Amino acid sequence: MIQLIRGFKDILQPEASLWQHIENEARRLFESHGYREIRLPILEKTELFARSIGETTDIVEKEMYTFADRSGDHLTLRPEATASVVRAYIQHKLSGTEPIRKLYTIGPMFRRERPQKGRYRQFYQIDAEVFGISSPYADAQMILMLAKLMERLGVTGISAHINSLGCPECRPLYRENLKAFIHQHTEELCEDCLRRKDKNPLRVLDCKNESCRKAMTEAPELLDQLCTACADHFALVRRELDRRNLDYKINKRLVRGLDYYTRTAFELQTDMLGAQSAVAGGGRYDGLVKTLGGPDIPAIGFAIGFDRLVEVITQAKPPETPAPSVFFIPLGESAMEKAFDFCLQLAEKSIEADTDYSGRSLKALMKRADRLAAPFVVIMGDSELQAGEVSLKNMATGEQRPVPLDSLVEILSLEISGQEAPESGTQDP
Ligand code: AMP
Repeated sequence: MIQLIRGFKDILQPEASLWQHIENEARRLFESHGYREIRLPILEKTELFARSIGETTDIVEKEMYTFADRSGDHLTLRPEATASVVRAYIQHKLSGTEPIRKLYTIGPMFRRERPQKGRYRQFYQIDAEVFGISSPYADAQMILMLAKLMERLGVTGISAHINSLGCPECRPLYRENLKAFIHQHTEELCEDCLRRKDKNPLRVLDCKNESCRKAMTEAPELLDQLCTACADHFALVRRELDRRNLDYKINKRLVRGLDYYTRTAFELQTDMLGAQSAVAGGGRYDGLVKTLGGPDIPAIGFAIGFDRLVEVITQAKPPETPAPSVFFIPLGESAMEKAFDFCLQLAEKSIEADTDYSGRSLKALMKRADRLAAPFVVIMGDSELQAGEVSLKNMATGEQRPVPLDSLVEILSLEISGQEAPESGTQDP
């Protein structure tokens, strides 16, 4: 049998319904904050990622799915979305008509990392970006929106971490100080850090290797060396988060894995996924639009690791298989036709109904109704139908009563809406 590729996965039921619910909540929340969706290709020119993410990052050095297509072009399955969003923003001159754009996109990303819990080679991100606002209010708004999404989804056990990565004014000097510190500790560093220490010294700060972590405990902190503009920016972000009572931590080790970040960097972290602690991450990238050939426009964005978010939610509460609201048990040929009609009629009213055309016994079909967990069952015998009636059974209470055929749809609508009202806000919006 042919199996799926290592590091890839199928998303089956009932999990896929949870994905759908999360996506709906995210869309609703983002749109109410003025974000609009764009949809982008998953394949881009390799150069786009090399230039934006950075040549010495893990992603570009060793994780991209890159190949030459038949014409010899170097193409890459996108490892993240920001570079593509920026490419589209520049290419379609979105800055020309209205430089302030709030955009989001949802879809698969590809990184050839070592597969483990919370880490896949095809994974999904919910990605949001804001162009054209340099004000720290945009940073605070984004972090608060992310926190709000977690709240709406009922996610617990996640904490917000924030840091500032400075700007081209203050970071170069800090980098030099950091490099000098690293050079005094080369014996304690892992191979990756040794290779990167000159080109990308900040990455040494967030290396997970125990020996590197120890070596870096006394390293200089960028947060202590920010220029006045960056320090003010960070202070305002914090002030706004404080004002909204967001519980967050300042994490001086949060440098994020990509080169393009400036100033505010943030992550939502959890200890529920083993080594993979980041459920979402983002930050400001004021220089990237220009680096990729566009105008000098500031921007900020984040990506939620969809798979990880699902895992955190599922650990707290396994998803339930969505059930039809009503299940028809037709006993006889004319009952089957009636059940068929009722299912279509209820679907028109957005009520999910199902039936069974196998002609099996009442007992067998009651068992199927139980398995489906439909809250209401309608039993239709041919003789009952001739009398213009059916039996409606409430599966929670066990109560069964006769109902006139011509008011069945109305009665079902009332019963089902009455039953769903207190449950809204759980799985299906
Ligand atoms: P990044 O683009 O690296 O900032 O990642 C943003 C978010 O995507 C992370 O916080 C993770 O939740 C998620 N993510 C990144 N890489 C993977 C992966 N290989 N598998 C699953 N989720 C991932």
